[in-house]
Amino acid sequence: MFEKEQQPHLQNLRSTELKFIHPQLENKFNELGLKSRAKKYYIKQLSDDSESDIGLTTGKTSPLFNIEAFPTPNAIDYFDGDTPNAWSNKEGDNALDRLLNAISEYLLYTLNDVEKLFQSALSEASALSQKERRRRLKAARSKPEKILVKSYTYKRNPDVVIEVLERAKGNCELCQKPAPFKRKRDLTSYLEVHHIKQLAQGGDDTVENAIALCPNCHREQHFG
Ligand SMILES: [Zn+2]
Ligand SMILES: [Zn+2]
Repeated sequence: MFEKEQQPHLQNLRSTELKFIHPQLENKFNELGLKSRAKKYYIKQLSDDSESDIGLTTGKTSPLFNIEAFPTPNAIDYFDGDTPNAWSNKEGDNALDRLLNAISEYLLYTLNDVEKLFQSALSEASALSQKERRRRLKAARSKPEKILVKSYTYKRNPDVVIEVLERAKGNCELCQKPAPFKRKRDLTSYLEVHHIKQLAQGGDDTVENAIALCPNCHREQHFG
């Protein structure tokens, strides 16, 4: 969010700098318990040199500098030190663009974040008096707020699936019984290709790590 254009103080730069705030980002840092005293972001000329890079910088306490979600700074704001402390778009290295993308991605919640926030809201709610809780209930919206979450999934290899189904020849590779029914689409047997070591646990998407299961055995593997 643009705040203002200002003359850089304590610097004899002729060009002005642009000052921004980002309440949403600040909010997210707070929610996740990350300490930051840096609440302003600047887009500015990074040195007195007329050929100087233009970059984005902020206070040293900002989580932008030390959490993995963000790219490392690739430029130096010489007014504030001599180690990389700014993000700039240079030839072959658009760190500033990468930073801005990383920030928008960072602002999306994961399902896990949503769950954590809900758990802490629950303990807060249980600490209220009944009177206070009912007062809150009266004022509450009846339609729940919708939020967009980010999630990661795996792009599976179709060749692994087909190869494992062919290996199984229509029989569950665990209980050895024939598949209970055929797929309408192509009359192949209804077996599900399951990863022995789950992909999320670092398992490989390979024929060796996959097994064709009937729906019963498959359910058993996951929930048994
Ligand atoms: Zn089976
Ligand atoms: Zn499975």
